[in-house]
Amino acid sequence: MPENILIAIAWPYANAEIHVGNITGSHLPGDIVARYHRLKGNNVLVVSGTDSHGTPVTLAADKEGRPVEEVYKKYHDGFLELFQGFGITYDLFTTTHTENHFKVSQSIFLALKENGFLYTDKSMQWYSPSAKRFLPDRYVEGTCYICGYEGARSDQCDNCGNVLEPEKLINPRSKDGSALELRETEHFYLDLSKLEPDVKKFLEERSPHLRDTVIGESLRKIEAEGLKPRPITRDLDWGVPIPIEGWTEAGKRIYVWFEAVIGYLSAPIEWSQLSGNLEAWREWWVNPEAKQFHFIGKDNIFFHTSLWPAQLMGAGSQFLKIFDEDDKPLIVPYDVPANQFMNLEGQKISGSRNWAVWGRDALTRYDPDALRYYLTVNMPENKDSDWDWAEFVARNNNELVATWGNLANRVLSFAYKHWEGHVPDISTDGQLPVAMRDIDKQLLETIKNGFNTVGAELEAVHLRAAIGEAMKLATTVNQYLDQTAPWSAIKTNKEEAAKTIYTALKAIDSLKILFAPFLPFTSERLHRFFGYETPLFGEQYTEDVTDSLGTHKVLRYRVRRDAIPPHQWKPSELKPGSELNEPAPLFKKLDESVIDEERARLGK
Ligand SMILES: [Zn+2]
Repeated sequence: MPENILIAIAWPYANAEIHVGNITGSHLPGDIVARYHRLKGNNVLVVSGTDSHGTPVTLAADKEGRPVEEVYKKYHDGFLELFQGFGITYDLFTTTHTENHFKVSQSIFLALKENGFLYTDKSMQWYSPSAKRFLPDRYVEGTCYICGYEGARSDQCDNCGNVLEPEKLINPRSKDGSALELRETEHFYLDLSKLEPDVKKFLEERSPHLRDTVIGESLRKIEAEGLKPRPITRDLDWGVPIPIEGWTEAGKRIYVWFEAVIGYLSAPIEWSQLSGNLEAWREWWVNPEAKQFHFIGKDNIFFHTSLWPAQLMGAGSQFLKIFDEDDKPLIVPYDVPANQFMNLEGQKISGSRNWAVWGRDALTRYDPDALRYYLTVNMPENKDSDWDWAEFVARNNNELVATWGNLANRVLSFAYKHWEGHVPDISTDGQLPVAMRDIDKQLLETIKNGFNTVGAELEAVHLRAAIGEAMKLATTVNQYLDQTAPWSAIKTNKEEAAKTIYTALKAIDSLKILFAPFLPFTSERLHRFFGYETPLFGEQYTEDVTDSLGTHKVLRYRVRRDAIPPHQWKPSELKPGSELNEPAPLFKKLDESVIDEERARLGK
């Protein structure tokens, strides 16, 4: 039975370009796991979108002197280009600024209200008399009254991670330099303390497979501090309207932390609408057998392991009653394989200092699979990692090119030359095996086991270990060729050489599948060299969607179900004597000069 797998990837803020840290943090691991499950024949849905609301976006608009809508779309379009370049195969990459997302977010809000988890309360907020408006979170900065960090936002300290009470901020100052005064304001709060027992139970149930770093950030944090109520509305006029009369008119909107995560639910609903099957999203959201994976960076752990499940459990069956009169509860995340951070040449990545490797820029100089390879072997799964240009060049040349690329190219070219463009035919009357030697059988058995070992690592989202296993198998095939030496055997005993080359081709054809989730572009090329006519994967495309808020562009993924066999995660069944296409090298060796050139770009 195919499993239903939802791959939910963190929503990037529409105020900055995406860099390698973001890619290895969430987008790439999500895509690798998605591609693996697709090859296995599971029903996969990959969603995310641009977080178009919130103060990072309005501040960027203020800075650039342009309308907010224009600014979010500029970054959004860049994201779509980057994901196509890197092959991040979203079934739907949308935005939070859609009619559908508004409706779904408002329904969750109302469901929580109906179930008694919302209340209103008054608090003090910074107000600018000259601008005649409240200045929420990032508009006011000051010194954190808990840890003393000087760049704290008025509502949260990015240094110690604590939620702050604006009126306690030390030395508050507004971003635009205007004078500040404290004024009373009223907001809706989510009473998380009431949901704490449910959240704890949820985390305890999942703790056996959640990463240690993830459990530490969530369960241990709740045990130490408890879940406290949080405001879910604020004084800002850009965002999702509050579905209670009078509130939106008063210049308030739903708080972005509350609504952006709801995208994991609204995006599948939008995808269903675009796919013409309105009920399809239920397979990943109401079906208790479905598994949801959340790919995020460590700064977002608490939102995804505690606040988001609390929202879902609090809304419960009430959401569907409001949304479409059904009364089933929504399911909660299965795994949250959050990554730590990637640094760059020993320093934190910083966009403002241009201490970054930007995704779209890197694609102008390097092939996507070369970047995907280094970002996978260097993925910050359990601790921070470091992008180092010398290491990038070394691992590209010594592993990707020397161990894997040369293996595939050498064997395919040899077969293509000596067997006139065909796989050596070692069968008798089409029957296999014909006197395959023990060494041949052993190699193919080892490769076959790789589907279990690499697959198990992928299921558990241990992606570094998974690609390491695949590379080890490529080394094993190289050793097999050293032992059997078909390059010299061809001169004395072509039949022996044929056995070796047939076996090696079959092993490489299998390795192609094992590498495909990580290196989809070159695996697809290799697949064609082997003469297959159907592709391994579907294709990406963009589409304009129009609703009452305007037109937004989305990224989608199309699979021709008739063209792609449902189960491809299995050892090669390469036919002796089948036709090959002319091979070419899969990867490029990089010159050492790249290291200095790239280092010279940093911080400029
Ligand atoms: Zn602090």
